[in-house]
Amino acid sequence: MDLCDLTISEAHECLRRREVSSVELTQALLDRIVALDNDIKAFLTLTPELALEGARAADARRAAGEDDPLLGIPLAIKDVICVEGVPSTCGSRILEDFVPPYSATVIERLLARGAVILGKTNTDEFAMGSSTENSAFFTTHNPWDLERVPGGSSGGSAAAVAARMAPGALGSDTGGSVRQPAALCGVVGLKPTYGRVSRYGLVAFASSLDQIGPFGRTVADVAILLTAIAGHDPCDSTSMNLPVPDYADALKGDGGLSGVRLGVPKEYFIEGIQPEVETAVRSAIEVLRGLGAETVEVSLPHTDYALPVYYLIAPAEASANLARYDGVRYGLRVAGEDMFDNYRATRGAGFGAEVKRRIMLGTYALSAGYYDAYYLKAQKVRTLIRADFDAAFEQVDAIVCPTSPTTAFRIGEKADDPLQMYLSDVFTLSANLAGIPGISLPCGFDAGNLPIGLQILGPAFGEEAILRVAHAYQQVTEWHLARPPASNKRGRRIKGG
Ligand code: GLN
Repeated sequence: MDLCDLTISEAHECLRRREVSSVELTQALLDRIVALDNDIKAFLTLTPELALEGARAADARRAAGEDDPLLGIPLAIKDVICVEGVPSTCGSRILEDFVPPYSATVIERLLARGAVILGKTNTDEFAMGSSTENSAFFTTHNPWDLERVPGGSSGGSAAAVAARMAPGALGSDTGGSVRQPAALCGVVGLKPTYGRVSRYGLVAFASSLDQIGPFGRTVADVAILLTAIAGHDPCDSTSMNLPVPDYADALKGDGGLSGVRLGVPKEYFIEGIQPEVETAVRSAIEVLRGLGAETVEVSLPHTDYALPVYYLIAPAEASANLARYDGVRYGLRVAGEDMFDNYRATRGAGFGAEVKRRIMLGTYALSAGYYDAYYLKAQKVRTLIRADFDAAFEQVDAIVCPTSPTTAFRIGEKADDPLQMYLSDVFTLSANLAGIPGISLPCGFDAGNLPIGLQILGPAFGEEAILRVAHAYQQVTEWHLARPPASNKRGRRIKGG
């Protein structure tokens, strides 16, 4: 048995039956990372000492009689989520030496359950991008084809899970950054409802859109992670004070989908979509019908406006959020002649091209004289987009569509063409604008053996519905069991603490 192949649920079973210890599991994954990550480059920081210390503590808790689905389970964390004492760079030079003095609420919750942290994963700078090519440090490679991107911005987390370097991970999704890399790497990724998961300790990109979400190789594993991180947090006033169900319970049952109504939005099967993606998604819909679901065509008439609206609202919020990187309080400081020159020099040297582009776009959209024409107008259209979903969810329980219009593209292919890059998220942005949850799961491969993702969207706080549909699909298909070629290399042992 290769310990790195275990899913979270399988690893939990092995730990529970004392067939393996968390230290053994953690060490196996650390070895795998050392063997593979020169090629894949999913991790920005590896934390072997922290991991093995956590694993030993988890083993001790288990020996004392405790049990939890995450007790002793190693995870990878996107570098925009703060872990106390561990560098959190956000893929940016401006935070290259930043070590947060506190952990995000999601991290506190995972650690309380006994999860183990393997390290911090690569991301587009401040989560702005769809390929990890905007990371200031390096690009992550897709384990299915090392010449291709893993998607982004949570590309490091998605690639780590796909390559069996971690059974689960956290990412963040502002416009698709969990779902799109999940699709491109052939794993499962979920963006929760806005307000379902605390954003405290998540470095802010666009505060009205950001949510932290889990990655796993199965829907069941993602349900376990979501249960652990969800819930109200007094430190995030936008987190909702609603009870958190055990999402894993939602997956029990006969696996049938009779009585479930699924909407197929006609605006999501458009020209420009890779034909193999459309074919795979349409056959997935047939599989869901075979399980008893009823499908109806729905319309989301304002879909075309999602991209322009997102690229006004997200940069506007980013321009305000990123004003804090002034070279005074923390992060990079480049000295200039006077105060304004300090700002200029620090921000000029610390931010990459895409971040600067967003700050300029956002500042412009918010400036006096343009605010009404751009920002305010975008907010009004955002309301219409949300209303489209409200209307659709009066008819159906969930919506099924592609996650991404294409499979993984080549590194460099879209790097110089921001608009092409932005189009990679046409199918995911709307869920963030509407605040609703979405999941992506593997539903096929293209001719080049690159994974294709199926997206299932649900009404606000309808995570159970989308998890149930996704899980039912995985019970009768095997796409999620395929392993990428780059995951096979065996490791030598590294020393931990
Ligand atoms: N690709 C989108 C962007 O660049 C979404 C990123 C995200 O969800 N963080 O903004």
